[in-house]
Amino acid sequence: MSALALHTRPLFDELPYQHTFTARVLAVSELGVALDQTLFYPTGGGQPGDQGHLLLPDGSAVAVVNTQRDPLLRAIIWHQLEEGHPDIRAGTELQGCLDWERRYRHMRMHTCLHLLCAIVDAPVTGCSIAADKGRLDFDLPESTLDKEQITRSLMELIDGALDVQVQLLSNDEYRSLPNLCRTQVAPPQGNGTVRVIDIPGVDMQPCGGTHVRNTAEVGAVICDKIEKKSRHNRRVTLRFA
Ligand SMILES: [Zn+2]
Repeated sequence: MSALALHTRPLFDELPYQHTFTARVLAVSELGVALDQTLFYPTGGGQPGDQGHLLLPDGSAVAVVNTQRDPLLRAIIWHQLEEGHPDIRAGTELQGCLDWERRYRHMRMHTCLHLLCAIVDAPVTGCSIAADKGRLDFDLPESTLDKEQITRSLMELIDGALDVQVQLLSNDEYRSLPNLCRTQVAPPQGNGTVRVIDIPGVDMQPCGGTHVRNTAEVGAVICDKIEKKSRHNRRVTLRFA
């Protein structure tokens, strides 16, 4: 099999709430283990790569410390192991288990940052998500933002228990929607489709990340800091309360 034929099926898009899966090893390299399918989300769009473990047929477990796409062959997802395991080689069947507590926090914070986009009317220039906090950078010359006001507005949307929907739009459909893309980076495009996260009436934007189904799952959050990072850049940091 040539390297170009390798492809990891991303199960996290369709099954964001599933914790375990079975897979077959495609390849082992210094980047880790590539599987034919995975629930492990690879670092991207400000969301960290998933952690967890791989369970071998003999019952032994190997920790996954990070997940990332191949820098050149983007369709391949590498699971970086804490340490190598001699029984993991191409063809090995194994089970993958997510560190679900950590991943679910990423999902809650990621959805919360989409709500923040709806509250702050400015282009987004950066995004970073962690298990306890998250932040967005806005292209905003004047500091008109208020921490307490942002916290109140976020909690209204969270307490409103709004549906979070995933839509797959064709490139043409995507281009026909004006001002859809809030970020200044290019939207994720693959297979002629754009994945869009829609919180109807609140926010709609292209995103490849994992999200909760309803804003109520975000839970209590606080706007922690508003920092001036440059003349045109305001950084807004949120954390779980
Ligand atoms: Zn997103």
